[in-house]
Amino acid sequence: MSEHAKVLIIGSGPAGLTAAIYAARADLKPIVLEGSQPGGQLTITTEVENYPGFVDGIQGPELMEIFRAQANRFGAVTKFEHVANVDFSQRPYKVTVDANTKYTADAIIIATGATARLLGIESETKLMGFGVSACATCDGFFYRDKEVIVVGGGDSALEEATFLTKFASKVYLVHRRDEFRGSKIMIQRTLDNPKVEVIYNATIDEILGEPMAGGVKGVRLKDTVNGELREMNIDGVFMAIGHKPNTEIFADTLKTNKAGYLITKPDSTATDLPGVFACGDVRDPLYRQAITAAGNGCMAALEAERFLSE
Ligand code: NAP
Repeated sequence: MSEHAKVLIIGSGPAGLTAAIYAARADLKPIVLEGSQPGGQLTITTEVENYPGFVDGIQGPELMEIFRAQANRFGAVTKFEHVANVDFSQRPYKVTVDANTKYTADAIIIATGATARLLGIESETKLMGFGVSACATCDGFFYRDKEVIVVGGGDSALEEATFLTKFASKVYLVHRRDEFRGSKIMIQRTLDNPKVEVIYNATIDEILGEPMAGGVKGVRLKDTVNGELREMNIDGVFMAIGHKPNTEIFADTLKTNKAGYLITKPDSTATDLPGVFACGDVRDPLYRQAITAAGNGCMAALEAERFLSE
């Protein structure tokens, strides 16, 4: 089965669904291929308090339901489908979902987002949103006068540790080596902060607590030099060990930077290929916020509309 769309949107986080709202209202009848995590990263958070328009905050999954309903209301078709590969060698562009399902499109909007790197331990997945977070900007506010751990040794971890001292009474920065990877100025700023204590040569072996019994209560740390284990009480754990943009299927076709993020033209969502646009976290290693992704999705739809009318 092959279906044609004027605008095909790949991804259904804030960027993809905002692009869908705008494209649908422009009567472009967009099709959204939602991917394996419909709604994107916000569906694995709990309370979102910094998305404008929700005075009392809103649960992440509910916010994404509203985005989708708003896109559907104007005629965007959302499909629970995951793209296997793309062929952008000629127009219309081709997108394959599986052996039986293909799409062709006059314009493509890529909004496949990024995935926070995680440690890969079971307790981390279980407690995600219940004391484990991969976004200090999003969740730091909930840790006023509490003690938290930040895991990582790059600029993100240093920045998040410093940011969290605005709320938390104590921030432990847990790094697997005895030397930070981040920039000198960020390292110094973090080390100078009296609320930050660095635990070098350590990783998290397990996070302790139950989602329905108050969430994170502590961690078991493992010394990376001598293998010793010790437990400590903690209220929250922030993972800051990097992000991975979801760009594998475009790697042979579109330009990426060293870290794999798609490259777009300055002040634009246009890629090097005519009619192919990229928006949201898939092209943004810096801000990574729902609101910036949504704004970027709006830009992509407006640029796709302009491209199609030309
Ligand atoms: P990053 O530079 O790749 O650092 C990731 C850190 O996580 C490293 O210290 C790494 O340890 C650690 N790590 C990775 N896997 C781990 C694991 N399984 N267990 C424990 N630790 C693990 O990522 P990032 O900090 O997100 O930065 C990404 C890019 O954005 C960088 O270029 C950075 O400079 C930039 N950035 C800039 C700013 C800013 O300028 N304001 C802010 C944030 C990010 P090792 O060091 O041992 O490998």
